[in-house]
Order: sequence, then structure tokens, then C-alpha cells
Amino acid sequence: MHTFEFIRPKDSAAAIASAAQSKTAQQGADVRFMGGGTTLIDLMKLNVETPNRVLDINRLPFDKIEATTDGGLKIGATVRNSDLAYDPRVQRDYSVLSQAILQGASAQIRNMATVAGNLLQRTRCVYFRDTAMPCNKRDPGSGCPAITGHNRTLAIFGTSEHCIATNPSDMCIALAALEATVQIQNPKGTRNVAFRDFHLLPGNTPNRETVLEPGDLITQVTLPPPIVGSKQVYLKLRDRASYEFALASAAVVLTIANGKITTARIALGGVGTKPWRSPEAEAALTAKAANNASFHQAAEAALRGAKPQSENRFKIELAKRCLTHALRTAAAS
Ligand SMILES: Cc1cc2nc3c(=O)[nH]c(=O)nc-3n(C[C@H](O)[C@H](O)[C@H](O)COP(=O)(O)OP(=O)(O)OC[C@H]3O[C@@H](n4cnc5c(N)ncnc54)[C@H](O)[C@@H]3O)c2cc1C
Ligand code: SF4
Repeated sequence: MHTFEFIRPKDSAAAIASAAQSKTAQQGADVRFMGGGTTLIDLMKLNVETPNRVLDINRLPFDKIEATTDGGLKIGATVRNSDLAYDPRVQRDYSVLSQAILQGASAQIRNMATVAGNLLQRTRCVYFRDTAMPCNKRDPGSGCPAITGHNRTLAIFGTSEHCIATNPSDMCIALAALEATVQIQNPKGTRNVAFRDFHLLPGNTPNRETVLEPGDLITQVTLPPPIVGSKQVYLKLRDRASYEFALASAAVVLTIANGKITTARIALGGVGTKPWRSPEAEAALTAKAANNASFHQAAEAALRGAKPQSENRFKIELAKRCLTHALRTAAAS
């Protein structure tokens, strides 16, 4: 691992001012914040990330989960994934988030990992993590060997001719379905970004993964007031039962009245280059009977636009079954 300066800024203004000196906040950043370090330090050991300065933000006052005045919840950027998953308000009102977090990584990693760090975890594409290989995301313009190579675990939605890497997060799939907001602070002030706009599609610039610019510090994630009476399920399908990323997953938030679906929020994981909200599935479910026929139709609608790679066509059927089963489980709960 290359040498770097390790700093514990005294407050967020100092952290932001220091990070604002970075040339980019995307791949290749020369200044990086550190939450739990479970992504950053991993990638620094592989020389995929080579910041000259690492800013440990764990002493900043962003470790609380608090109610908002409108009945929602604000979650500080350094709240540990475990603390969030076991928070009684989250378990009661946003259980899809708790379920998603607890199906990710391992207990030890969840105890270290922070909310902001999870939002910014990097793809597990094997070429991205191997500096001996070309990779447009790591080294723009060098090529994408995954398109003709190992792509079994990669994306079927949101891909481009430059990158087909999957966003690996479980937590983000639940946050997409819950319509979270990301709060960002920088030298100019504070802005709020809707979760659906926070991650970027790869397009021509797969090295740009989010809207973040140098000096942007994520300070909190906000959840809107809970949907009263909603039934929530996160289902994750993977090669082994723990310590493994999703091949396909589904976050489902439903309300049902008199046998009909009145609200449907659906997001899919393991299949998109960013957390994949499915308005197609939501439209196919809304005002329909809460039964198997509707669930199958929603799954067909959700996967209609999928573009499989040479090794991952199986994900289409897997994701359909995942969503159908999640819907059935939610409706029966
Ligand atoms: C073996 C293994 C298995 C895993 N399995 C899963 C899984 O199944 N599902 C899953 O979802 N995840 C999984 N993960 C990923 C894990 O969830 C992430 O590594 C973790 O959430 C990252 O959080 P962190 O706080 O450690 O991030 P860090 O490593 O500290 O930071 C990650 C990135 O975020 C930036 N950053 C951190 N905080 C801020 C901030 N406040 N503002 C701006 N930028 C910031 C950092 O600069 C860095 O670029 C796994 C990880 C490992 C190592
Ligand atoms: S899919 Fe993306 S991350 Fe993987 S090799 Fe291609 S450009 Fe790199």
C-alpha cells in the first residue's frame, strides 16, 4: 500500500475544507473521507484507491438517529449499519431497511460500516479490483474486459458499452424503495439530493458514480414519514446464505386495502448499475388485486427492459422469481 497522510479533522468545516482540495470526489480522488474503512482500506490495499490524504470522520457529530418534525427519521452519516438495523423505530416503521442491512456482509463488517460508506461502496467487478487488468471505471479509456469476460454477477439494467458493473449494496435498495434523501454539505452550504438522483448511470463516464464533488461531505440520510400499515420485505438471492453479494434482490413496500394494492414501492438489487427502482412493477401493481397473477405481471413488467450479458441471462428469471416471492411474502404478512 502506498504512503498517505492520516488526519482526524476537529470539525466538519475542517474536513470539508481539506476534502475540497481534492481534484475529484470520484475514482482517483487524492483526498478521501473514511467511515468504517471497510471499502476504502480494502481498495487501498489493492492500489485501486490511492489517496494522499485520508480524513477520519468518526469524531464528527453524525452518529445519531433522530425523529424529524414531520414524523420521518434522520440518520447520521457515521451511524453504523448494525445500529441502524437494530434501531426499534427502523425495525417497526422501515423494516425493509433493517432486513436489507442484516442480509449484507457479516456482523463484524456491519458493526464497522457506516451509512454514508455503504452508499459509496464500490462494485465487486473482478476487473475493477485487479490493477493488472484494464477497466474504464478505474482507468478511463482503458476498456471493459467484463463485456467479453467474467460477467456472471454483473448488471442487466443501466449498462453502457463502457461499463456493466453492478452496484453491490443491499442497504441502498431499501433506501431507493423508501424514497430517502441524501444530505450533503460543502464549502458553499447544504443541499438535499433525492436518492434516485444520487447514483449515476455509467454512460461514457463509469468513473463517476455519484453526484459528489470535491469537498462534498454526506452528513445524513433522511427517511420520509412511514407509510402507515405498509407491509415490507427485502429478499436477497445469492450463491451462499451469508457473506455474499446479491445475484438478485427485491425491496418491496406495499399497502393493501380490501384485497387491492393501494401503494407499491419496488426496487431491485444485484441487477442494476445503480440501485434499481422499478416504476414498471409499481404501475403493474397499483390498484390491482393482491394475488399471484398481479405479482407475476409485475415481475414480467420489471424485467422487460433487461439487457443480459453473455454469462448472466439467468438473472432475468431469478429476479422475476425473487420479486414474485417477495410480493407474495409481503402480502401474506
Ligand atoms: C467481505 C465483504 C462483504 C460484504 N458484503 C456486503 C453485502 O453482502 N451487502 C452489502 O450491501 N455490502 C457488503 N459489503 C460492503 C460493506 O457494506 C461496505 O464496505 C460498507 O458499507 C462501507 O462502509 P464504510 O463506512 O466502511 O465505508 P468506507 O470504506 O469508510 O468508505 C467508503 C467510501 O465512502 C466515502 N465516504 C465515507 N463516508 C463519507 C461521507 N460521510 N461523505 C462522503 N464520502 C464518504 C469514503 O471516502 C470511501 O470512498 C461487504 C464488504 C466486505 C469487505
Ligand atoms: S464492468 Fe465496469 S468495473 Fe467492470 S471491468 Fe468493465 S468498466 Fe471496469
